[in-house]
Amino acid sequence: MTQRRLAALIGTPVGHSLSPAIHQAAFDAAGVGWDYAAFDVAAGRAADAIAAMRVLGLAGMSVTMPHKHDVADAVDRLDPAAGALRSVNTVSWDGDVLVGSSTDGAGFIAALAEAGVDPADADVAIIGAGGAARSVIDALGRAGVRSIHVINRTNDRAASACDLASMAVVGTPDDIDRADLVVNATSVGMGISPADASASDLPCGPERLSTSQVVVDLVYHPLRTAWLEAAERAGARTVDGLGMLIHQAALQQLAWLGELPDVEVMRTAAENALAQRARRPDDAGR
Ligand code: NAP
Repeated sequence: MTQRRLAALIGTPVGHSLSPAIHQAAFDAAGVGWDYAAFDVAAGRAADAIAAMRVLGLAGMSVTMPHKHDVADAVDRLDPAAGALRSVNTVSWDGDVLVGSSTDGAGFIAALAEAGVDPADADVAIIGAGGAARSVIDALGRAGVRSIHVINRTNDRAASACDLASMAVVGTPDDIDRADLVVNATSVGMGISPADASASDLPCGPERLSTSQVVVDLVYHPLRTAWLEAAERAGARTVDGLGMLIHQAALQQLAWLGELPDVEVMRTAAENALAQRARRPDDAGR
């Protein structure tokens, strides 16, 4: 009998993470003999978790808040996206070397491709400048977009995010009106059902959205946010946050196993987990 291998998620909190359901479903469907477990690791202990990965021979690791930066300092090598962002969401082995990568940005691009959207030459407006926005800006910069306007509540964070792509500048809400691709990378709207949403639960006014645009909401809880519904009413093409969630996880498995998993299996597992979460609306986190 072949020995089973273990991949782990570290973060805090991790109790309501969707990652165990998504990864375990794909491992089981592929019959690779891997298990996936979530470990609640206190802030400041990421280096200890990486040391444990080496000692215990964990086969792979997912990393979520608040450890993404500390893990970048604790692994042996970084992929280009993780190096640019100084943020790691995936740890894999290359022989006996631990490699840190960041799959969120590539997951975002894969989700766009799945929706039939090619961002090359697009004028982009990104609302938000946190970790998700930074991954998306870095990836869009590599994907050959024409311009990126970053609009954020806190201007300093927008300015810092613009350092990630040569065509990125700090923008104002008016730039949203002129964009081909509009991305909500804030947490505004998270956990709010469209029926309960008010204007403050929308990342921008719906009058800024129009038929010529692709509108992407990275929020995936709920999947159909009030903002996406408003974008749809404005005639825009919409993409929800599930695609990025699934594809960043699929790219983690590519790093661990050398093969892409069945993304439809992952999608079904995520949808089932989200449906359970909808019955417990206080839940949050990946
Ligand atoms: P983060 O680093 O904490 O950044 C949060 C962002 O939201 C910041 O730009 C923050 O602005 C903004 N924000 C928060 N509350 C706001 C408010 N009331 N009004 C205006 N702006 C507000 O979080 P993150 O990791 O980037 O995640 C952001 C969202 O993306 C979350 O909903 C997360 O679930 C989602 N996400 C989805 C995926 C996916 O795979 N679909 C992946 C990653 C994240 P300030 O800078 O001014 O504080």
